[in-house]
Amino acid sequence: MKYVDEFRDPALVAQLVKRIDASAARLPSRQQPWQLMEVCGGHTHAIFRFGLDRLLPDCVEFVHGPGCPVCVLPETVIDQAVALAQRPGTLLCSYGDAVRVPGTGGSLLEARAGGAAVEVVYGPRDALELARRHPDKDIVFLAIGFETTAPATALALQAARREGIGNFRALCHLVLIEPPLRALLADPQLCLDGFIGPGHVSLVTGTRPFDFIPAQYRRPVVISGFEPVDLLQSVWMLLRQLEQGKACVELQYRRVATTSGNSAARAAMEEVFEPAPSTEWRGLGSLPHSGLQLAPEYRAFDAAALLEPRAATGAEPGDPRCGCAAVLSGRMKPPHCPLFGRECTPATPSGPLMVSSEGACAAWYQYRQES
Ligand code: SF4
Repeated sequence: MKYVDEFRDPALVAQLVKRIDASAARLPSRQQPWQLMEVCGGHTHAIFRFGLDRLLPDCVEFVHGPGCPVCVLPETVIDQAVALAQRPGTLLCSYGDAVRVPGTGGSLLEARAGGAAVEVVYGPRDALELARRHPDKDIVFLAIGFETTAPATALALQAARREGIGNFRALCHLVLIEPPLRALLADPQLCLDGFIGPGHVSLVTGTRPFDFIPAQYRRPVVISGFEPVDLLQSVWMLLRQLEQGKACVELQYRRVATTSGNSAARAAMEEVFEPAPSTEWRGLGSLPHSGLQLAPEYRAFDAAALLEPRAATGAEPGDPRCGCAAVLSGRMKPPHCPLFGRECTPATPSGPLMVSSEGACAAWYQYRQES
């Protein structure tokens, strides 16, 4: 299959592993391994699925990053979504992964079992279609994700405004990739030597959100695709920069992403959204200017306005043993969480990292439990 088979070619993989070994051998020796953060949950999943971490030399290791949209969903947003789903005359629509994320009082799926109106959709266009077909109901789309998914939500809201569909609304937790990376790099306890950048975000944004990493922190970045050859080539490109003492943003995923990104997608986002003063992230707390809210012309579509004030306020603290925050910020590997594989499994997830197909805990559980 074009663009898949050639990026899984065992001969190419073997060649890249040799180059990685050679580059790693030329790095200055030190006690701690060289840590390369794969920012995107899609990369985490591919690394485990293909066992790529086992192909790296001992002195290089992957560190999982915060780029999984479901994993960074705070409990407060799930609680708000549940409250909306329980509201008479409202149908809450969301992506399949998001309905299983636990809030303080359970997940959307559990709320549905208790009678709340929850529908799984592929995206905002499906939710908008439901709003057209059911003018008697408030259709709320739980809009989550990074710059990758925000344009699709923007297009659905533009269509709703154009067509005068007043019963379609969005509950937004749309976040930006740059602020959490800034927060991680500003933490002196974390030692991140290089970044494997998210190819799908760059498809929209281009490479600009990552320019500050080499400019301010002298760390290399390689924007990567999602197949084994993509990821191993990206590792090799990072090691080459490190051994040469260079730091710049390189683009490995050239067949899809460009340095300038997709200006039409960004224009739709800029019309519909504006930067929110601050946004809550699971594991990272509240980060200023890290998310998007509806622009004034689109505020009528804000589902948060339907919430009772009680439902919009803070949540109970979660299980203190939960390691989601530490795993999301690269401080802990999933099996070191005391709940991993015991209370927290894909069938009984305690945190979103065990729910999402891009979550680091789900990937460890699926590909490493039995080995
Ligand atoms: Fe969170 Fe469960 Fe992973 Fe622990 S095992 S970090 S509770 S998702």
